Amino acid sequence: MPPERKIATGPQTLCQKQDEAKAKGAISRRNFLCGSFAIAAALALGIKPAEAGDPPKVINGIETWGYQRPLSQTELYQLLLNSNAVFEGRKEVLEEGQFYLSVFIPQKAYQSLLNNESPQSFLLRHVNRLDRMIKSGNRYTNDTLIKGLAIRRLVVIEDGVDAPVSHQRARRYAGFKDSDGLWEIDASYTPEKSSYYHADEKIDYGLLHEWGHRVLYLPDQYALDASISELGSQSPDNNIPEIMELSSKRSNQPIIQSVNAFTGVPHAWQEYITSKRNDRFGNTLMNSSYNKFGPYESLQLYRRVKGKWTHKFEWLTSEAMWDFPNEVPAKTIVTFGKDYAGSDLKIYRTDGFYDSKQLENAPIFSGKLDTGGSVNIYNPFENTYMYAPGLPTQFVPSYRGDLFIKVIKPDGTIYFRWFDIRELNAAFWLGQTDAVGITMNLAAVDETPESFHWNTEYFTLSGNPIFTEN
Ligand SMILES: [Zn+2]
Repeated sequence: MPPERKIATGPQTLCQKQDEAKAKGAISRRNFLCGSFAIAAALALGIKPAEAGDPPKVINGIETWGYQRPLSQTELYQLLLNSNAVFEGRKEVLEEGQFYLSVFIPQKAYQSLLNNESPQSFLLRHVNRLDRMIKSGNRYTNDTLIKGLAIRRLVVIEDGVDAPVSHQRARRYAGFKDSDGLWEIDASYTPEKSSYYHADEKIDYGLLHEWGHRVLYLPDQYALDASISELGSQSPDNNIPEIMELSSKRSNQPIIQSVNAFTGVPHAWQEYITSKRNDRFGNTLMNSSYNKFGPYESLQLYRRVKGKWTHKFEWLTSEAMWDFPNEVPAKTIVTFGKDYAGSDLKIYRTDGFYDSKQLENAPIFSGKLDTGGSVNIYNPFENTYMYAPGLPTQFVPSYRGDLFIKVIKPDGTIYFRWFDIRELNAAFWLGQTDAVGITMNLAAVDETPESFHWNTEYFTLSGNPIFTEN
């Protein structure tokens, strides 16, 4: 099945609705908490209900609570208290690089999720699939630091019970402390109706994408898309009023549509849809709910494992937003090849807001390519980050995460391409923190984003290739 853009099509999951509400500014980006207050409050008050339901039973490989009689709200509180007390009493350590999931399911969904299949078997197949995808990330890192995914338990709850699912910071205080992610299966969830359901594998990659947020704390890579409707066309007369109207709802600052960057650039290239890329930065789980992990997902996990903060929730909860870590090599030497020797290079960066990107009117970088068609563009994201108090990393907001590169040969012929922050994050996370060499292709006016060979190769400055895939 062809992948679809999440933002515009298909039945929406809770996550996507929140993503959109967030982008529209309806929810304060760093503070919104969905549900879970009641449980957090109960725990804080030390409420100790008498029982936590019947003992659990392992069903189809998953420890299941409430399988005979779903847990009431009070019983769920008690189960959380008991489980967390046991977990902390054991001084159990969550293994670095290993991710843990607990799932809640309302009684109605438990009884009707799938025909001819138990919810446990459905869940286990999805857990195993994501486990394999996570482990596949080790091909980028040449070691086995990235361990995988395990499911702790399934809890059947009475319809209407408020379960502490993982949303932002509240989860840490309200949920199972032995689990990175807490997911609730919606009572109306029908896997086969998901736009991202692969019937051959019986896997809903839309569900795995959501677990990518809620268990692995990974961002939406499609947040880097810059669509025509956002960027406008190169005719300023037609587009400035609309853009200014949009922007005026959010701020009083008028946004100037870039006309310089797109002069001579075909319409199809005046937008950047990351899932259209046919390289390793194209279709992936956290971009288009596709059935594979790309290097971005893998390396973002890998750097946490190396830094030993796989389970540090107060840091993790900021990682699954529409922002990208400001971890970029100090120097990037870009090489386009000898054909471009002596050409002028201009790099434009996007800006704006989450739901309306623009290209900045002035290039952030101008230079001339040397005889090998190379130039040092330094760190094109310097000074673009937002301040995130208490975190080890600052973030580049997705609307500032794209670069449009334009190369003008001495005879005036233009070449161009998009490039984004993920490509420099990946170099940094592979150890090229000071400097990296990148060779990349450029598109001519007769190429489309679909036909273009989106190739980027990475080297140390001494010329050794990095980023090889096993
Ligand atoms: Zn998402």
